[in-house]
Amino acid sequence: MAIHSMVAAHSKRPVVPDIIFGTSKEAQDAEAKFGKEAVINATIGALMDDEGELIFFNSVMKHIREMPDAKLAAYAPISGIPDYLESVKHACFKDFMPKGYIEAVATPGGTGAIKHAVWNYTDMGDEILTANWYWAPYKTIAEEHGRKLRTFNFFNFETNSMDVPAFKAEVESLLKIQDRLLIILNTPAHNPTGYSVSDSEWTEVNAFLREKAAETGKKIILFVDVAYIDFAGTAEASRRFFGNFDNLPENLLVLVGYSMSKGYTLYGMRCGAILCVAANQEIATEFKDVCSFSNRGAWSNGTRAAMHALADAYKDPAYLSAIETEREFFRALLDRRNNAFIEAAKEAGLRTVPFTAGFFVSIPCEDPMAVAAKLKEDNLFVIPLQKGLRFAPCAVSEEKCRKAPAMIKKYL
Ligand code: PLP
Repeated sequence: MAIHSMVAAHSKRPVVPDIIFGTSKEAQDAEAKFGKEAVINATIGALMDDEGELIFFNSVMKHIREMPDAKLAAYAPISGIPDYLESVKHACFKDFMPKGYIEAVATPGGTGAIKHAVWNYTDMGDEILTANWYWAPYKTIAEEHGRKLRTFNFFNFETNSMDVPAFKAEVESLLKIQDRLLIILNTPAHNPTGYSVSDSEWTEVNAFLREKAAETGKKIILFVDVAYIDFAGTAEASRRFFGNFDNLPENLLVLVGYSMSKGYTLYGMRCGAILCVAANQEIATEFKDVCSFSNRGAWSNGTRAAMHALADAYKDPAYLSAIETEREFFRALLDRRNNAFIEAAKEAGLRTVPFTAGFFVSIPCEDPMAVAAKLKEDNLFVIPLQKGLRFAPCAVSEEKCRKAPAMIKKYL
C-alpha cells in the first residue's frame, strides 16, 4: 500500500491557509491591477506610511548598519547578551518596575516568549486561558505543544469595558480542574481590538488572582503580552498597570512578553524577551534556567545585532532620544489614523469593539468571512476573524481610515 503520510500522530492536523498572509496577497494583487490609490489594504500588522511602504526608524537602522562586522555576525550567549538583559527590563517597565524579583531571557520576538511560557509553565493537555478576541498564534502555539486554548468573553458591550465577571468565572472553573493555570492577557493596545485593560479592571483582576492564589494554593501564571506597549499612549498610561505586580505571593508569577518588532520596527530581526516578576529569587532563577534551556532546545541563541540595538540605546542618551523622537512621531501618526477611523465609524453608525490605542480596530459582525468577501469587491481588504473584522489603521492612510467605516457599514 502506498504511504501518503510520514509525520508523527501529534503533528497531524488540518492544513489551514494563513488568512492574514493570504488576504494581504490578494490586496497586493488588487493594488497591482487597480493602483494603490484605489485599494484599501488594511490587512498588514506593521506600521506603513501613507503610500503603503514599511516604516522603520532611521536611528535604529543606521545604528545597526554601523555596527562592526563581528558584532553583527557573532553568536549571542544562549540567554541573551548581559547588557541587553539589563536594558530590556528598563525598556519594558520604564519607571514602573514592579517590586519583585525580575529576570529576563532573550527570545526571537514576543512569539518566542509565548512559546516558553506555554512549554515551561503548563502541563501536557492543560487549558490556557485567554480572551475570546485573540491573536491566532496563541492557539497555534498551545496546540503545537499539546495544550488547549480556552477563552473568556472579553467585552461587555453594554458598558464598553472588559467582562471581568466572565474572566473570573473561567479562572475559577479551570482552577477546579487543573493544578496550575496560565492566563495570557494581551494589553495594552490588544491585537485585534486595540483595547487596553483599564486601571480599575486591572485592580479587580489583580485582587482576584491574589485571592484565588491564597484560597486554592494552586500555581497561577499571568502572562502579559505587551507587544504593542510602545504604541499604547504615554509611558505612564501604558505602564502604570505594572504597579499591580508589586510584592506578589509565591504561587502567583507574572511573565511579560516584550517585543522589538513594533517598538523598534525590527519585525524581521526577531528579537524580544520573556521577563518574570517573581515573589522570590529562587522562582526567578528557576525561570531564567528553564527559559535559557528552552532557548538552547528551540533555536539556540537570538539575534545579536538587534540585542545591541537596544542595549546601546540605554548607554547612549542621544541615540535613545533619537529613537524616542521617531517613535513619538509615528505614534502621533497612528493616533491620527485611529481617531479618523473611530470618528468616521461614529458618523456612519458602525459599531466597533471598545478601542483604546494601537495598530488595530475590530468590528463585531455575524458572518465575517462573507462581509470580508463583499468588501474585497470594493477593494477594501480586512482580516475576517471568528467574531468580526480586523481593520489595521497602522497600514492605511488617515484619508482611507476616514473612508473605510461607511464602506464597511454598507454590508452590516
Ligand atoms: N503578541 C501579539 C498580540 C502580536 O500581535 C504579535 C505580533 O504580531 C506578537 C505578540 C509577537 O510578535 P513578534 O514575535 O514579532 O515579536
